[in-house]
Amino acid sequence: MAIITLGTMAFDAIETPFGKIDKIIGGSATYVAYAASHLTQPIQQISIVGNDFPVEEMNELKKRGVELTGVEIVPDKKSFFWSGKYHMDMNTRDTLITDLNVLADFVPKVPEEYQGSEFLMLGNLMPSLQISVVNQLKKRPKLIVLDTMNFWMETAMDDLKKVFSMIDVLMINDSEARQLSGEFSLVKSAKKIIEMGPKFLIIKKGEHGALLFHEDHVFFAPALPLEEVFDPTGAGDTFAGGFIGHLARTKDISFENMKTAIIVGSAMASFCVEKFGSQRLREITKTDIDTRLKEFVQLVNFDIDLV
Ligand code: AMP
Repeated sequence: MAIITLGTMAFDAIETPFGKIDKIIGGSATYVAYAASHLTQPIQQISIVGNDFPVEEMNELKKRGVELTGVEIVPDKKSFFWSGKYHMDMNTRDTLITDLNVLADFVPKVPEEYQGSEFLMLGNLMPSLQISVVNQLKKRPKLIVLDTMNFWMETAMDDLKKVFSMIDVLMINDSEARQLSGEFSLVKSAKKIIEMGPKFLIIKKGEHGALLFHEDHVFFAPALPLEEVFDPTGAGDTFAGGFIGHLARTKDISFENMKTAIIVGSAMASFCVEKFGSQRLREITKTDIDTRLKEFVQLVNFDIDLV
């Protein structure tokens, strides 16, 4: 089952308490594609890069069933660049640089062969571009998932509110949920945010897992307690790729199946943080993913006698 993915393909510079790297491939769409392509194919990418983006990287993605017809290559400009520094707890980070470069003039075009896909992942990007992609689709996908971040809440709130009314599932982290709703309680935040449009809301809490809200229901998926977290960059996008990848693979968008999908998202994200960039996502096999999913089952499985 095909998934259309919109997002950035980028160069990142990352500093964590455990190491530093000046230039590594990143971007929201890149992480979504690496994660989702382990679960279903094709992934139909919509993005933009400059003349500096390596051909080998494009070929690596193609090998994994990622279609790149929707990725524009601008010959005389640089790719999007982002730089961030993590604090000691690895849950908080400061954005040091956001150089839009090619992204500043990006007008996404949905290729004809992407039309008719049933799953749409609107990765973290300018909300106006997320709106443009939804509007170009001749048939509304079965499920539209949107990921965004505080940067866009601060710079493009009106467009963000508009796109919230067009989607099914919104993914944000806990501090963004509080920022968006003005509420400290995540339960109160979820109620207010669901009133803004999305039918389902996922609040990511980093190493403390993720919450899924829908109507009066709430479900919690833990994150795997890992001995070493090396680099959390891309964990959110990888979670998104795992989530939508599972839903597309099983063709089931019920709340019950979304519970499983956030476990799959958490499992994929647990790989992402083990090495810098997308390196670990490229290495893992189906067996690695299955083994990790079993660890998740063990983590939350218990018997209880009622009192
Ligand atoms: P995450 O850690 O899941 O939030 O994603 C980090 C990735 O998002 C990095 O690889 C960045 O290149 C990319 N990124 C950072 N800031 C933005 C932004 N404002 N819009 C889109 N992508 C971004």
